Amino acid sequence: MDFECIPHPAPVPGETRTEALANPGFGTLFSDHMVTIDYDEAKGGWYGAKVGPREPIPLDPATAVLHYAQEIFEGMKAYKQVDGSLALFRPEENARRFNASADRLAMPNLPEEIFIESVRQLVAADRDWFPTVEGGSLYLRPFMFASEAFLGVRPAKQYKFVVIASPAGNYFKSGSPAVSIWISDYTRAAPGGTGAAKCGGNYAASLVPTGQAFAKGHDQVLFLDAVERKWVEELGGMNLFFVFDDGRVVTPPLTGTILPGITRDSLITLLREEGLDVSEEMYSIDQWRDDATSGKLLETMACGTAAVVTPVGKVAGPDGEFEIGTGGPGQITSKIREKLVGIQKGAVEDTHGWVMKL
Ligand code: PMP
Repeated sequence: MDFECIPHPAPVPGETRTEALANPGFGTLFSDHMVTIDYDEAKGGWYGAKVGPREPIPLDPATAVLHYAQEIFEGMKAYKQVDGSLALFRPEENARRFNASADRLAMPNLPEEIFIESVRQLVAADRDWFPTVEGGSLYLRPFMFASEAFLGVRPAKQYKFVVIASPAGNYFKSGSPAVSIWISDYTRAAPGGTGAAKCGGNYAASLVPTGQAFAKGHDQVLFLDAVERKWVEELGGMNLFFVFDDGRVVTPPLTGTILPGITRDSLITLLREEGLDVSEEMYSIDQWRDDATSGKLLETMACGTAAVVTPVGKVAGPDGEFEIGTGGPGQITSKIREKLVGIQKGAVEDTHGWVMKL
C-alpha cells in the first residue's frame, strides 16, 4: 500500500517543541502528523493511506462509534537506541493483537504489514518529536473506529484507522519506585465478554473504579474475576507477576478476561532465562495477602508498555491493606526491568529478534 505524504503546513515551531520535549509528561503532547487509512466495504476494503497533518476528524453526529463504541486501539513505543537510531519493540505482536481485538468487535482486519508500515511512516515523519528527558520514548497510538453514519445496531461498513504519536516521559506522576493499588469492587471483564480485546469500552468501564483508587491516594486499580470475586486478574493498564522465595513466579493465565500484554509475554521469557520457574496460574487475593504476610511472596511486579516494569508496594481494599516485601523495588523486579529496558534500548543483546530498527 502506498502512503500519500502531506507535510504539516505549519508545524509546531522548533523552539516550542524543544521546550516541550524536555518535560513531556504522558498523553498530553502530540506530534505534528498522523496516519489515516479508510475502509469501506463497498469499495472493497482499505484505501487512501496518508501521512498528513495531525488535525481534527469531522464526524457526523450519527457516526456509529459515538453510539455503540465500536472502537479498538493499541499502545506501543518507539525507543531510542544507544547508537542514536529509533526502534520498535515487537510491533508484529501489536499488529496481531489489534486484529484479535478487531475480530472480537466485528471489525475488519488490517494486514499486519500495513499496521507496521503505518507506525514506521509516522515515526519517520515525526522523529524530531522524540523526547529529550531521560527514559523518554515516543508513545504511538494506533486505533480504529466505526466511521459509518448509521444508527442500527450492526457492525459498521466503514471504518477509519489512525495512528498518532505522543512524546512520553514517566507514566506515573511520582516516577515512583513502587506503586500502591486499590482492590476494586467493580469488575472489568466477564467470561465471554471483551476483556481480552483492547477496546475503548473496557476502559470506559474502568474509569469509576480507577477514579476511586486515585481518590484514595493509590496509583492503580486491581480487578478481581467477575464470577467468584476472588482471583487476581490485572490492573487498570498492567499485568501482574508474583515472585516467591522458592524461585517460582506466577502470573494470571490468559483465560479471556485479561489483556494478553506484550510486556507480560516478554517477561515470561526473560524470567525463565534467569532460571525462574514461571507458571500461568490463578492466584487468589486471600493467598496473595497470606503469602505477603508470611514472607513467602518476595515481590510483585506490574508490567505494561507505558509503565514498563514497576514494583507493587502496597495493596489496599475495604478490608484493610498489606505491604509486599520491603515496599520498594525487589531484586528480581529491578533485574528484569533493567534487562527489558536494555533490550529495548539496544544496550543488551536482542537474542529473540524483538527489536525492529527504524
Ligand atoms: N492490561 C491492560 C488492561 C492494559 O491496558 C495494558 C496496556 N496495554 C496491559 C495489560 C499491558 O499490555 P502491554 O504489555 O501490551 O502494554
